[in-house]
Amino acid sequence: MARQYPLERCRNIGIMAHIDAGKTTTTERILFYTGVSYKIGEVHEGTAVMDWMEQEQERGITITAAATTCFWPNPNLASLPGDTRQVHQINIIDTPGHVDFTIEVERSLRVLDGACAVFDAVNGVEPQSETVWRQADKYKVPRICFVNKMDRVGADFFMSIKSLQDRLLANAVCIQVPMGAEDKFEGVIDLVEMQALRFEGEKGERVVPSDIPAEWHELAQEYRHKLLEAVAEYDDDALAAYLDHNDVPVPLLKSAIRKGTIAMHCFPVICGTAFKNKGVQKLLDAVVDYLPSPLDIPPVHGKLPDGADAVRETSDKAPFSALAFKIMADPFVGQLTFIRVYSGRVQTGQAVYNSAKGKRERVGRLLRMHANKREEIEEILAGDIAAVVGLKGATTGDTLSDADHPIILERMEFPQPVIHIAVEPRTTADQEKMLVALQRLAVEDPSFRMRTDEDTGQTIISGMGELHLEIIVDRMRREYKVEANIGKPQVAYRETLSKEVEAEGKYIRQTGGRGQYGHVWLRVRPNPQGKGVTFVNKTVGGSIPKEFINPVEKGVREAAEGGVIAGYPM
Ligand code: GDP
Ligand code: MG
Repeated sequence: MARQYPLERCRNIGIMAHIDAGKTTTTERILFYTGVSYKIGEVHEGTAVMDWMEQEQERGITITAAATTCFWPNPNLASLPGDTRQVHQINIIDTPGHVDFTIEVERSLRVLDGACAVFDAVNGVEPQSETVWRQADKYKVPRICFVNKMDRVGADFFMSIKSLQDRLLANAVCIQVPMGAEDKFEGVIDLVEMQALRFEGEKGERVVPSDIPAEWHELAQEYRHKLLEAVAEYDDDALAAYLDHNDVPVPLLKSAIRKGTIAMHCFPVICGTAFKNKGVQKLLDAVVDYLPSPLDIPPVHGKLPDGADAVRETSDKAPFSALAFKIMADPFVGQLTFIRVYSGRVQTGQAVYNSAKGKRERVGRLLRMHANKREEIEEILAGDIAAVVGLKGATTGDTLSDADHPIILERMEFPQPVIHIAVEPRTTADQEKMLVALQRLAVEDPSFRMRTDEDTGQTIISGMGELHLEIIVDRMRREYKVEANIGKPQVAYRETLSKEVEAEGKYIRQTGGRGQYGHVWLRVRPNPQGKGVTFVNKTVGGSIPKEFINPVEKGVREAAEGGVIAGYPM
């Protein structure tokens, strides 16, 4: 089966934001304009289709990173006369905004090629948007920025731009300026095409261009100038055109913005109000115009079974490799494994190799997820995202590969849990059910752990925050029908070294015969926070026989399980 659209017309994107900046509302509008959903769901009405889990609707927050596919421009609508835009496939991963779920954000960033950062025009950059921005830096994810809520009292586009520059030190470049703000927010000025855009119709579905009104002329000129100067900084062709003609033609300007965005020289900024149906179509245009396709990002790296480094080209012809980035229990089909394919192709019924687990498995069915329905597909190709049914052993972060060409892609790092609580089923009959439920939930969510306390026999669950654990207990009740009582949350303290030290230890025992003698010099120093314990063997040339090294490491690791201050893990 051929691809529906060539790979350069595929976008894997995430929408990231501080909680309440409007990520869910923006996603809803995207789904509406791309023709996936026919009715706009409102977050406060609890009908938003991305927030499909029962409790997400009740709490009005998005917990699960569900992958959704849509197409832009909407292939079902006749294009406007003169509209030369080509249809693109956009895979959206909805990333949660709450700090308890940063793990979800991290794991989606790992498989995304680009992202839209949504900001609240009243608040500009907020603490959580700062955290997510840094995570996106870490994963080198190109971004465009959407300053949302331009209709709110206090909305200030230019303050928001300044906070992007000051707080995120981001080279934020306006490719739009707003026409007005608050209840006088009329629409936007597109600084690339130099035209005014208004959004008409009940749902803002008609994008109506016009000449720039006189009152906005000066502002538009000023910011157009800034845009041209920003691209001339890094793009020689744009610079040449700018020097020769004091202007840059639209196609060249677009390609310069695209290059700069993909290389993260700049972050294009647009604005609007998702709730009042203004500007979201231009966000989709910007995704298509400026965010990378899978071909625009470097090919994925990994390790072969013998430990050698290897690269997999982003091509349907390369051996199959994919990363499992999300496991979800599904009431209808069992376990869904969301995968991002980096190279090659895989069909339903085909065997794949789980290199992390050393196991062969069969791909049962392949599903393309839309917000409110799922579509069976026969095959998934390099660059695409879909859900696999039928993989039993896969957990988040596992690599799936061609059985004849195994590879392990770089694993995701999961943070250590920071809080734990004891859980106890209401009835003893539920004990078994509760353990099964918790184990399943732990498979879905690597930032959630469970264990049995050896001294008290209690079941202890740990996670990233109180809300995280509350939701786990709530899901256990709803999905597995286990009622449980929970104890008081305890902070999972850890101990660490404050500075580098060396110490010497001697062990001498003479109990007749040959006696035992040990002499160790140990140098320890702080690791970066969250790195755990790293053991490095720096002995050279067999000065210490090999077989002593493993027991030394084992001893070090055992000692680090309880620190000297209060016995917490080091
Ligand atoms: P999320 O937490 O980032 O997913 O944010 P939501 O999409 O859930 O939005 C949070 C709240 O802000 C909801 O009550 C929305 O109705 C509201 N909201 C979202 N976008 C806008 C907007 O453009 N203007 C206004 N005034 N409110 C908005
Ligand atoms: Mg939301």
